Amino acid sequence: MLSVRAEKYRPVTLANIEDLPEWRRLDPEVQEAVRVVAQVLPFRTNTYVVQQLIDWSRVPEDPIFVLTFPQKDMLDEEDFVRIRDMLRAGAPKAAINEVVHEIRLRLNPHPAGQLTHNVPVFEGRRLEGLQHKYRETVLVFPSPGQVCHAFCTYCFRWAQFVGEPDLRMAINESQDLTDYLRAHPEVTDVLFTGGDPMVMKTSVLERFIRPLLDETFAHVQDIRIGTKALAYWPSRFFDDRVLKLFEEVVAAGRHLAVMAHFTHPRELETDEVREAIRLIRSTGAEIRTQSPVVAHINDNAEAWAQKWKEEVKLGLIPYYMFVERDTGPKRFFEVPLARAWSIFRDAYKQVPGLARTVRGPSMSAFPGKVRVVGVTTLGSEQVFVLEFLQGRNPDWVGRPFFAKFDEKATWLDDLRPYGSEKFFYEDELAEMTRQGLSG
Ligand SMILES: *Cc1c(COP(=O)(O)O)cnc(C)c1O
Ligand code: SF4
Repeated sequence: MLSVRAEKYRPVTLANIEDLPEWRRLDPEVQEAVRVVAQVLPFRTNTYVVQQLIDWSRVPEDPIFVLTFPQKDMLDEEDFVRIRDMLRAGAPKAAINEVVHEIRLRLNPHPAGQLTHNVPVFEGRRLEGLQHKYRETVLVFPSPGQVCHAFCTYCFRWAQFVGEPDLRMAINESQDLTDYLRAHPEVTDVLFTGGDPMVMKTSVLERFIRPLLDETFAHVQDIRIGTKALAYWPSRFFDDRVLKLFEEVVAAGRHLAVMAHFTHPRELETDEVREAIRLIRSTGAEIRTQSPVVAHINDNAEAWAQKWKEEVKLGLIPYYMFVERDTGPKRFFEVPLARAWSIFRDAYKQVPGLARTVRGPSMSAFPGKVRVVGVTTLGSEQVFVLEFLQGRNPDWVGRPFFAKFDEKATWLDDLRPYGSEKFFYEDELAEMTRQGLSG
């Protein structure tokens, strides 16, 4: 029985935002900035986020406000003024769209070869909604899940939400997935992602997951669902059919993990999220947590330490701290690698052992997931120590390697090898790229 009653929440977009009393009380300049930036970056929030998560007395600095409401400084000043003046002058939609399109293309909509390099081919056909980058794991992007209950302003999949042609990837039918998995017994992990697969109707979720429970797919030991619904719409998990599906996965002997995206400790505080966590855990599924470290929202060790401690208290397993990808309003959010590492370390050393399951800070870069192990001195030189947590070649994993220290570097591409001409994996990666990466 539910101890918490879910209110009826509604999506909020520019079309209905004037209905919110919280919004109507906001400084008109802040309102205009949201409207301007939302022409370029996707904007969608909901009444749960607005009423339960945002502390309106702290807006515009409130971290959850920055998390879902576009901010002026996310665009270059010049671009911002251009769009703002067009809106003020009542310019035709088509003219605005032309400028918007040009700005979006400059925001690196597809980092790390997402569209071009990781899509597997099956019997001569590109399976657009699958990614198979690391041997044991297939990512699934079900097309009805290519949206979220609210949009994070730092989203690295933002291009999928704005409807730019050729910037989307999705799978329509679970048949493509089962065909592929039948031919790939090396795959032990299937990770449903998006957008957010928990946006899908329960019947669609069942249609994708249930077939995998058949004996034919016994090699698929782990099923993961990557979601931000626990943070943005926890009552999604009050649905009995979702809970029953989770129980079935567990009863079939599979490991079910809800990979929950929690950006800030505030998201763990409401009665509803706590009830949702309790319900999910009661099915035998586990919940692991991950988030990027981003400026203006969670770029301090206290936020992370508090988040990890709270997660452990609630029975969640801290999993990844990511470095934000090189896309979208990168300049607004970026945290240099050296700082990301200090934040990680300052938080990590404060938390009990059970929270030290977390790994990071990690960059999901073209060759793989690269963790900044730390900064140290070799001889008289400061260096970064790095390692692969995941690699296009599994043999790259867990070998420490070095890069020259660079206080300003924010991504792997900014780093130069230390003590050698190239990073140890570069020749092999070039060879793999030449041969055409696929599944
Ligand atoms: C992170 C990621 C995975 C999962 O990696 P784990 O280390 O197993 O969590 C799988 N595929 C891609 C493309 C990823 O970025
Ligand atoms: S939940 Fe994930 S996919 Fe959805 S907007 Fe946030 S970062 Fe993007």
